[in-house]
Amino acid sequence: MSLRIVVAVKYVPDATGDRHFAEDLTTDRDAVDGLLSELDEYAVEQALQIADAADDAEITVLTVGPADAKDALRKALSMGADKAIHVEDDGLHGTDIIGTSLVLAKAIEHAGYDLVVTGMASTDGTAGVVPALLAERLGIPQVTLLSEVKVEDGKVTGRRDGDAASETLEASLPALVSVTDQSGEARYPSFKGIMAAKKKPVEALDLSDLGIDEAEVGLEGAWTKVEDATARPPRTAGTIVKDEGEGGKQLAEFLASQKFI
Ligand SMILES: Cc1cc2nc3c(=O)[nH]c(=O)nc-3n(C[C@H](O)[C@H](O)[C@H](O)COP(=O)(O)OP(=O)(O)OC[C@H]3O[C@@H](n4cnc5c(N)ncnc54)[C@H](O)[C@@H]3O)c2cc1C
Repeated sequence: MSLRIVVAVKYVPDATGDRHFAEDLTTDRDAVDGLLSELDEYAVEQALQIADAADDAEITVLTVGPADAKDALRKALSMGADKAIHVEDDGLHGTDIIGTSLVLAKAIEHAGYDLVVTGMASTDGTAGVVPALLAERLGIPQVTLLSEVKVEDGKVTGRRDGDAASETLEASLPALVSVTDQSGEARYPSFKGIMAAKKKPVEALDLSDLGIDEAEVGLEGAWTKVEDATARPPRTAGTIVKDEGEGGKQLAEFLASQKFI
């Protein structure tokens, strides 16, 4: 039977862009370009390697996000995933982590899965808790923060590298894994991959398709609320020291004044 892999990929605002909060203190996603979260490229890469090693596998990439989030799906499809699911609904505006994990879990159940693969954290929210919430909601084991992952004989095994030791972990399928940025370079989409991605199916779902009550998501359903946000003051020019024989001394004095030495 085919190994069904679902990879959760997030569309995030480009960190090099000028990012702002909107009037309701949610992220202003319209004002800035977005892209597939770099950390989720590692998740797609690991899913592709697992699929290559399996006799028969199918990779579905899944995102919950606005219309432009399709770009993240297209990138993952052009890397080699087989199909995609895009959950988009006006009622999602302002959804927090709890709501996002609910929508993702329902969509994963809708897709059908043996293995769920996620990144270690998104590059915008960076909470790193969605994988654990998903495993809990789906009622499956989680093997997180892996730098190496393999699927064999109905089990997923992986290596988690810590400061003091490396652990080898194992769980029986169905299971969820999250992978780190140490798991191996993500491949670049080839020209052929980019062309093929245009023809791959992208299923569009909204909250009602997933049987989710609007009250459970959005700003109203959020467990957390942003009370206030203040833009960081622009960077000041800094002090330029011209070395006229005393440069080293001045540098040491500066470092000492900042308690670096
Ligand atoms: C349309 C929309 C509007 C939102 N508005 C707000 C808001 O106003 N305020 C607020 O606090 N939060 C909002 N969120 C939720 C927020 O952007 C995050 O998606 C959510 O809080 C997860 O936190 P994180 O990014 O830190 O996840 P992490 O736990 O850091 O993510 C870990 C992994 O989970 C997966 N993942 C996380 N999010 C998604 C996703 N959306 N789709 C697919 N995979 C995912 C990825 O594999 C990722 O690597 C919104 C989300 C959406 C989709």
